[in-house]
Amino acid sequence: MAGWRIPPPRAPTRTGSAHAHDRERKVRELEADGLLCSPRIKAALLKVKREDFVPPEYRDYAYEEVPLPLPGAAATISCPHSYPLFYEPLGLDLGHRFLEIGTGSGYGAAVAREVVGNAGLVVSVELDPLTHAFARGNLERAGYRDVVLVLGDGWHGHAAAAPFDRIAITAACEEIPPPLVDQLASGGRLIAPVVDAQGRQVLTLLTKRADGSTLREELCEVLYVALRRPAGAAPTSRAAPAARQRRAGSR
Ligand code: SAH
Repeated sequence: MAGWRIPPPRAPTRTGSAHAHDRERKVRELEADGLLCSPRIKAALLKVKREDFVPPEYRDYAYEEVPLPLPGAAATISCPHSYPLFYEPLGLDLGHRFLEIGTGSGYGAAVAREVVGNAGLVVSVELDPLTHAFARGNLERAGYRDVVLVLGDGWHGHAAAAPFDRIAITAACEEIPPPLVDQLASGGRLIAPVVDAQGRQVLTLLTKRADGSTLREELCEVLYVALRRPAGAAPTSRAAPAARQRRAGSR
């Protein structure tokens, strides 16, 4: 699958009302495409200003269907349709304890925080210190002060706040990290792009049954940045070819 074509960086020109118009049009488009159904996810996408989670040189492109580069070694804000693509099959809802792996811009965490509400919890883990700091600034400026941001290897999840009702891994992994399945509540769901034997990334939904067994469903082919492991971390079951580690963006 081809990578994404990133638009050229430029000084921002669009006004707040132009962005608001783009945001409403994008939400209508996602609904018309059948990607967006949940009223809570819709309200969240209408509320969170995506342009405030994009570096200034890409701000004008905030609602275009491309992933945009972020500070850090290999981070992007996923393209707008990624969020309902993940959160609709997850059934993300009011009161959920939600874990995101790959904070990126913080936008996905902000949207999730709107969906889960005051009674829920959002924890987001990011490996790259520069990306983590960028997300922290964005979330603070936007007023999301109770999102728990963790700097570290998302492979290990965040046992201190487990169990989670819903988990989203926003980077492509060779296998679903077992600690994340362990940290999933009974009846919980996890979604992740999983690399298959042919090197394709398949968006995969895992449900944990009451008896602890898991059910896996393959949803569609996608293209995300790779879930990286820090130097010295135990290898995953299959080694990731170097070509897959390039900045690929996300669908
Ligand atoms: N959800 C983000 C987009 C994430 S892009 C958003 O809404 O903007 C994928 C992110 O995963 C990148 O920021 C990358 O640095 C991060 N990442 C890669 N490997 C990781 C790991 N092992 N643990 C945590 N984060 C990781």
